[in-house]
Amino acid sequence: MPILEKLAQSGQARHWTDSIPLEYHYTAGVAGEEFRRELRDNGRFLVSKCSKCKSTYIPARMYCPDCFIEMKDQFPTDKPGYVYSFTSVNRDRSGADTELPITVGIVKFEGVKGGIVHLLDVGGPDRVSIGMKVSPSLKNLSERIGAITDILGFKPTSTGPSKTTTEGGTTERHAARTRDDQARSLLHSIEESGYPIEEDEMTISSLRTKIGKGELLTSEEDRLLHRLGDKAKEWRKAVKSSSDTEPTDTLSG
Ligand SMILES: [Zn+2]
Repeated sequence: MPILEKLAQSGQARHWTDSIPLEYHYTAGVAGEEFRRELRDNGRFLVSKCSKCKSTYIPARMYCPDCFIEMKDQFPTDKPGYVYSFTSVNRDRSGADTELPITVGIVKFEGVKGGIVHLLDVGGPDRVSIGMKVSPSLKNLSERIGAITDILGFKPTSTGPSKTTTEGGTTERHAARTRDDQARSLLHSIEESGYPIEEDEMTISSLRTKIGKGELLTSEEDRLLHRLGDKAKEWRKAVKSSSDTEPTDTLSG
C-alpha cells in the first residue's frame, strides 16, 4: 500500500514490530554545566549574579528571571546554607516502605535566591528545624562525576541548642517555643513575600542565624522583625493591587 493512500476501513491497517535505535544526550545547559563542573572539581556551589538587579541565584543560571538579561558574573559561594523547608518520606518511588524515614529539604543560602533540594543527613525528621545551618557532605573528588548526587546530603553545622528534646514541656519552655515559632513564621513570610530585602539583608541574615540556632531575640530585634514583617506585608499588598489593576479580560472586584 502506497504511503499516501488513505485507509477506508480500520481492518486495512497493519502493523509490524521492530526497533529504532535512539540516543539521548541530556545537557544541563551552559550555566548548569558550569555549576556541575565547579561541584565536581572544587566541591563548591556556583552562583550567578545579575548586573542589573544585583540578585544572585543558585544554582548558576544564564538569565535573570526578573530582568531577562544574561548573567555573566558567576562565582562560587561560601555562604552558609540553611534549611528553608523540609519533609520526611516513608515510601520509595515504587511505593514500598523505606527502612527509615528519609528527610528531604530545600537548602537556601543567605542572600542568594533559589536553593538546592537534597537529602538532609540529620538522623531523623525530629532533629531538623527550619533555619538550621547545614553544610554539604560530598563524595570524594575521585568519585565525583558532576552530578547532583556528588552531594551525599546536607549535615547540620551548628552544634547549637538542640531542638530535639520534646519531653517535659513546662509552660516557660512552651512560651519560648511559641515565640520561636512566631519568629520563624514571620521570617518565612518576609522571605516569601518577594519584598526586596537588599538593604535589610544584613539584619535579616543575623536574625535568621539567631532564629536558626533557636536563640531568643532581644526585644529590639523582635521589634525589628515585626517592622520588616509589616514592610513585607505592605509589599505583598502593593504587588497584589498592581496585578489586580493590570489589564485582564475579566474585571476585578
Ligand atoms: Zn536581574
